[in-house]
Amino acid sequence: MSTLDARIADQIESRRDDLIRLTQQLVRIPTVNPPGRHYREICELLDHRLSGTGFTSEMIRAEGAPGDSQSYPRWNIVSRREGGQAGDCVHFNSHTDVVEVGHGWTTKPFGGELKDGRIYGRGTCDMKGGLATSIVAAEAFVAVCPEFNGAIEISGTADEETGGYGGVADLAEKGWFDPARVQHVIIPEPLNKDRICLGHRGVWWAEIETRGRIAHGSMPFLGDSAIRHMGAVLEEMERYLYPLLAGKRTSMPVVPEGARASTMNINAIHGGQAEPEPGFTGFPSACVADRCRITIDRRFLIEEDIETVKAEVGGMLERIRAERPGFEYEIRDLWQITPTMTEREAPVVTTVAGAIERVLQRAPQYVVSPGTYDQKHIDRIGRLKNCIAYGPGILDLAHQPDEWVGVQDMIDSAKVMALTLAELLGPEPGKG
Ligand SMILES: [Zn+2]
Repeated sequence: MSTLDARIADQIESRRDDLIRLTQQLVRIPTVNPPGRHYREICELLDHRLSGTGFTSEMIRAEGAPGDSQSYPRWNIVSRREGGQAGDCVHFNSHTDVVEVGHGWTTKPFGGELKDGRIYGRGTCDMKGGLATSIVAAEAFVAVCPEFNGAIEISGTADEETGGYGGVADLAEKGWFDPARVQHVIIPEPLNKDRICLGHRGVWWAEIETRGRIAHGSMPFLGDSAIRHMGAVLEEMERYLYPLLAGKRTSMPVVPEGARASTMNINAIHGGQAEPEPGFTGFPSACVADRCRITIDRRFLIEEDIETVKAEVGGMLERIRAERPGFEYEIRDLWQITPTMTEREAPVVTTVAGAIERVLQRAPQYVVSPGTYDQKHIDRIGRLKNCIAYGPGILDLAHQPDEWVGVQDMIDSAKVMALTLAELLGPEPGKG
């Protein structure tokens, strides 16, 4: 390690207690989404914290975005610290929302309890630990190199867990990720401290509805069952579509391995009579189902294009219609996101890779996420390609009971982030 590296590492080590405390403070604000609670409060905590170390903050409400309301306003914060000279801007973006608590906890979900080197609580791993890590990394770097080149930004954004429209998408639309003002983006999602996440697969959600005709259940031949029609759709999916998808392989380094093929989940199925009201003790009435609906969640690869993905399903439905008497259907798009993958030669990738090697003495692993995260908006709306996810924490723990983040993992990641800042904005950029 160079002397600069060593000074930065010492700064991080000396901030261990502060890093723990900051993570706990963030976890103790229950920013559960949906519905999206306490966004303003967590932005105020970040503003207060960062103004103490020379950052200037702006709070931006995603007014009118999906989910934004008077009772649950979508507040976001962007904090910026200018260096002494001109240069690039490195931006750390973390989402501030967490998913519901769920069952099975043995620790307090919003307690932030520290036990055996781990901090427990909803959002510790995904991703308040990462947010705290990026803050401490930036502050440690600034302490060593106050006159750095360029600028550092730290943002805390809403709604990642529900699509990011009230968070990063809104900021991107308002120009906050314009490549003219931000050149490097790191999203400290919990990908493990030695892994660089280059991007994610694509998504297409759609609803397929089959139509029938209601009749008395004792004479089903007088009606036409939408559920049986849907059965034909499901059968064709098993026979034709699933084998087709399983046969497609990507060159994207998606983890886990199973997600290197195309996949499709049938998210929901509804048909016939609605579920009875709670407390209803009677029997169902005898009816033929006149509607049946499924929701599909299709994840696709960078080698596929969305039109082909849709045509596979559309063509299959048309074939069924041609062969099956009375088959009528409707298909509705719900939403779609194209795959994204930052190039391995991109500056943010090579710099973080070098920092991982120096801190952990091992080569980084390059991965792609099976599901999407806020990089989609930075790429598509912000047009900024130099973006990765990198942060402490074990991805499998996200959204689980007794979620935790390891303190040593945060310390190591903080060193990687701070060395990355030194390399990109340091006194001698490129020399670290
Ligand atoms: Zn997350």
